[in-house]
Amino acid sequence: MKSILQDKKESYLSGQTYGLEDHHIYFGVGKRKISENNGFKVWLTASEHRGTYGVHGMFGHELDLKLKKACQKEYEKNHTREEFIKLIGKSFL
Ligand SMILES: [Zn+2]
Repeated sequence: MKSILQDKKESYLSGQTYGLEDHHIYFGVGKRKISENNGFKVWLTASEHRGTYGVHGMFGHELDLKLKKACQKEYEKNHTREEFIKLIGKSFL
C-alpha cells in the first residue's frame, strides 16, 4: 500500500500490527481513487476503522478530521495548498 504518512504496515494510530485494514483518508465520489494514487492512505485496526469511535463510525468525526489534516500537512511539505485543493476540492487546514 502506498502511503505518504507511514512506511510500516502497522496501525497509524496505535502501532498494532495485526487485524489491519487500509483506509482512504479522503473518500466519497472520485476521492477514493485520488487517495489511492497519491498515497493518502493509512493502516488502521478494524475498530479504529469501522468501530463506533473509528474514522467511519458514529463518533469518529474528529478522528476522521485529524487524519485529513495530518495527511494534508504531509502533502504540503512537497506541494502547494492550491495543488491539494485541486485534488481534494477543499482545505482542511
Ligand atoms: Zn476507510
